[in-house]
Formats: sequence, structure tokens, C-alpha cells
Amino acid sequence: MAAPILTVDVEEWFHVCGHRAYSDPDTWAGREKRVHVGVERILALLDESGSTATFFVLGWIARQSPALVRRIADAGHDVACHGDRHRRVFEMTLEEFREDLQKSRDSLQEIVGRSVTSFRAPEWSMKSARNPAFAVLAEEGFTLDSSLTTAPPVGEPSNPERPATLETASGPILEVPPLMGTFFGFRAIWGGGVCARLTRESRVSAAIERALADGVSPVLYAHPWEFDDAHPPMPGLSPVQRLVHFAGRKRTEGRWRRLLARHRFGAISSVQATSANGKREEKNSMNGKRGGIAA
Ligand SMILES: [Zn+2]
Repeated sequence: MAAPILTVDVEEWFHVCGHRAYSDPDTWAGREKRVHVGVERILALLDESGSTATFFVLGWIARQSPALVRRIADAGHDVACHGDRHRRVFEMTLEEFREDLQKSRDSLQEIVGRSVTSFRAPEWSMKSARNPAFAVLAEEGFTLDSSLTTAPPVGEPSNPERPATLETASGPILEVPPLMGTFFGFRAIWGGGVCARLTRESRVSAAIERALADGVSPVLYAHPWEFDDAHPPMPGLSPVQRLVHFAGRKRTEGRWRRLLARHRFGAISSVQATSANGKREEKNSMNGKRGGIAA
């Protein structure tokens, strides 16, 4: 049976892709580290409500704060991989992607003592179901990805909007995309991020109910910095980056609190189990055919 899914992309407030002043790892040592503030608030919310979640953690964060990753795992949540240094997949060669993936996965596995097999790319940067990086994911032992959206320009309209098996040259990957909706007439992510924060809460709630009624697990996501009352100012962001990062940010915690009171959320690996046994999973071949993916 479909159940709502909560996910958290565990990164620092300064992990902004594509901004020279923030994305350069050489600048990170001197920045205030605050990821624990948001993670602890999220863990408390989950604990109060009895829900579980998947935490996609950067390898860099894991090496900085191994105790925090252990806390997440010990609280019964899934630990998954968000890459190592928050680099977009399409900005790396396949070999660089593999190295980034291995470094992150090895750091996480060493801390939690079990296999890490789920992945979410920074900024949904797998972009396309035909990305050859999916084969690298499969070769490195990953079985689930949550990095595709149908919202241009971050994703392609032909990407799946419900769990779908991507057949790669190196084996299958279960793709579990975020909850989608519309924003001013355009396809937009409603599972989290700026469009979700600026969309009426009742509309997002209705979309969650519709997905559940349709047998599809709605996937929501947030970042620890959206739960941080003392988020540092970020001079130098472009107007768009400022909107994406800050607009409606403070709504996130209240919304999660109300959602957690209404639903019992699970980890994204539960979708994997459902799809392995159930009939809802759909095939999406790597040669570009849509394979009946529902829009
Ligand atoms: Zn991220």
C-alpha cells in the first residue's frame, strides 16, 4: 500500500550549487557549521510523531559530524547518499561522479555499519532517465534513486512522476521521484523547495491525498537549514538563488508538524519493498521511451 515518504537532504546552509563563493569546498572550513540545529529539530518532530524518514547525507557532512549521522541511524531512520561535496552530476565526468559517489558512500557506510543503497543527486541533477550516470549508480551497488523531476529546467518532461524501474546497462535502479504539481501553470516540485513553500498548504495536502488514493507514495523533502531559526545571512546570492533558498523558508517546520500529525510517514526504502512485490511499478527503458509513465 502506498504510504507518504519523508526525506531530508542533509547539507549545510552554504551548500549552494553553482555559486563560486559558497560551492567552493576551500571556503567551507571558515564557515559556521549549523547542520546539527536543523537535523535535531527534524529528529524531534519525527520522534514526537512516530514517523520515520530517509536522510540523504553528504559524505563531507558525515566526515565532519559522524556522531550526527550515527544519531540519525540510531533513531531508526534510513541513511542514504547525497553525493560527497554537493556537486551537480552534469558538472562531473562519469569518472568524477563515480569517485564522488564512492567517497560519500564509503564515509557513510563506515559510520552506520551497513550498506548505503539509495541516492539523491544535489539539485535533482541526474536530469534525465537516460543519464549514463544511472549505470554507474547500479555498478556501485545503488538500487534506488530519487533525483528525477519533470520540472524544467532541472528535469525533463518525460521523466517518471511515480516509482519506475530504470533499466541500465549495469542493472535496474528504482526511481522514486518527488511529489509534483504546478506553479503558475508550469510543472513544479511540490514535495519541497521554493515552489512547495509558496504554494497554498491546502493544495499540497490535496496532492498528497490524491497520490495516496492513486496508490503512489508522495515523496516530500526538506533541508536542515529550513528548520534553523538562526540561519546566517547569505550575501552575494543572485535574486533567483535568494528566492530559491529563503522565500517561505520559515513555513517548512509548521507544515511538517501539521503533516506529521495527519500522516505516518516512512522511509523511501519502503517504496522499494512495495514495488518489488506490487504491481504499481512501471518500466522506463533507457532508450527514451516513456513506458506509460503517468503525467
Ligand atoms: Zn542538496
